[in-house]
Amino acid sequence: MNAKGFASTGDMTEKKITFSEIGPDIYAFTAEGDPNTAVIVGDDGCIVFDAQATPAMANSVIERVRTVTDKPIKYVVLSHYHAVRVLGASAYKAQGIVASSETRRPIVERGQQDWDSEYGRFPRLFRDAESIPGLTWPTLTFDTGMTLYLGKREVQLMHLGAGHTSGDVVAWVPDAQVMCSGDLIEYHSACYCGDALLREWPLTLNEIREFNPKAVAPGRGDALKGAATVNEAIAMTRDFVTTLYGAAELSVAKGRSLKETMAATREVMDPKFSSFAIYEHCLPFNVSRAFDEASGIDDPVIWTDKRDREMWAALQG
Ligand SMILES: [Zn+2]
Repeated sequence: MNAKGFASTGDMTEKKITFSEIGPDIYAFTAEGDPNTAVIVGDDGCIVFDAQATPAMANSVIERVRTVTDKPIKYVVLSHYHAVRVLGASAYKAQGIVASSETRRPIVERGQQDWDSEYGRFPRLFRDAESIPGLTWPTLTFDTGMTLYLGKREVQLMHLGAGHTSGDVVAWVPDAQVMCSGDLIEYHSACYCGDALLREWPLTLNEIREFNPKAVAPGRGDALKGAATVNEAIAMTRDFVTTLYGAAELSVAKGRSLKETMAATREVMDPKFSSFAIYEHCLPFNVSRAFDEASGIDDPVIWTDKRDREMWAALQG
């Protein structure tokens, strides 16, 4: 195997943005595997679901929103704590920044380390990083669920369980039967599992399936329109996380080292998933976390810029 450039530091090609209506007055901002944002327009305002990495990146979202409505952006909802999802929030000038309490906790505990780590891994996603005013602090939090009303339009925010992180939130628009899933669902894009709860993730996907969404704005990859595509993406995500965890569980049971686990994981993952966006970037982080969880470490170990690079040299160098 050739040595690879660290994470996505070599990825400098801008992606094509698509802004498409996935349900009545609900839009998905997608970019070929880069982090997505969704927009829900109601009677008297809008909700932005996931903020992008910087205010400059968020302005690309706002530009698209202004092509479909002039209503104010009232709330920014954070699906989870990762820097590329939250650090652009200030650009929307929303009256509320909403997250689960289990998302606020890691922002307090490891927000700065996560920011430094994510910026180091994927600088292209942090366009005009100087525009970030600081960590994003949720102003409204909830434990299991809350409802936001945009006039008559109801939007349910729910923590259905852990998966991509411990505090993942989805948004459900009952009148349209449309969901914003955050990184709990990815489509032809690798799942980043470096902070995941891999045993619980498939159970949370079961909860999502119960809603039978007509459309979903996933965390990465194209918008999912129609139940067949939604179910395909859920199955794809489930296959990704269960294959990863299964390989780690077997490796730990056999007493393999982390490096041997990486090789064993490649054998089962590469044939199915190597064409997915950010697959090689994610793989060593994913294997590290799967190995930890299978070894009995419940709380994901904090990633730092230093740990990132040591681990990369050990597994991908
Ligand atoms: Zn994430």
